[in-house]
Amino acid sequence: MLAWGPIVPRRIKLPARYQVLITRTGRAPFSFSFSPLAPLFFLLTLVLWGGLTFYLLRSAERAQALEAEVRALSHQVRELSGALVEKEQENQALAEKAAEMLERLDAFETELKALRKRAGLKVEEKKAQDEPLGAGRPADTGELFAALEARIQAMQKELKGEVAPALDRTLKREAATPRGWPLRVRSYIASGFGVRKNPFGRGYEFHDGVDLPAWYGTRIYATAPGRVVEAGWSRIFGRYVKIDHGYGYQTLYGHMSRIAVRRGQYVKRGQVIGYVGSTGRSTGPHVHYSVYVRGRAVDPRPYLSWRVAGR
Ligand SMILES: [Zn+2]
Repeated sequence: MLAWGPIVPRRIKLPARYQVLITRTGRAPFSFSFSPLAPLFFLLTLVLWGGLTFYLLRSAERAQALEAEVRALSHQVRELSGALVEKEQENQALAEKAAEMLERLDAFETELKALRKRAGLKVEEKKAQDEPLGAGRPADTGELFAALEARIQAMQKELKGEVAPALDRTLKREAATPRGWPLRVRSYIASGFGVRKNPFGRGYEFHDGVDLPAWYGTRIYATAPGRVVEAGWSRIFGRYVKIDHGYGYQTLYGHMSRIAVRRGQYVKRGQVIGYVGSTGRSTGPHVHYSVYVRGRAVDPRPYLSWRVAGR
């Protein structure tokens, strides 16, 4: 049918059509003709079909692989979204914690304000216009924590730099302030602070303290801690003790029968410094008690009103 040249290919001349004759025993022969392009076409179809099938098969494999990948991905997404929900819940918990801390800070700020007042510092009242007006969006956790940190830092700064030192000064001054009665027995103010009639003669005199009667020998207590600056005898106060408490405060106890401290000695609040007597310019056993503020005698009455010394 087809002839190929031995070595050098020659131009093959294809006939227009092939005739095939099939002889059949006892029957009429069967013949048909075909174009030489037909087998070529057949082959081409076969190849195409095969390729397509192969491609489709490969595609199916690819599709399966893809599907598997998609399944894996969707699983991952589900896991991630689960984790996200968890994170969101965590985040929510954190936000709630932050909000709670901010509320506690509010309470702490109120305390800080009270401390400022106690320390004698100016307290600025928050004005209504400081509050933001209108509705805002809910703050996220990051913002809440940033706000929290900023406020804590501001409060720390205020507490450390301003309130604590002022409070310290206030407390020290208060600790040095004479407080209560120099006696722990029932007594009364027999003679008050100010101008009074001279108990020893005619005319008026200025009484720079209070006279507190008590039995002879009754203990006399220091009304604040300090250093004994005078412990001795005076024509007016007889046996007397003067204590310097610092911060401009001094106290004097007069007409003692006996002194229990020495000059230069440090005494505590409530420490016994002497005993009631009637020495000096006195008409009977009592303690003359004076309070000095920056060298000037003041009415001891307000200082007496603060409970009994040392209690
Ligand atoms: Zn007196």
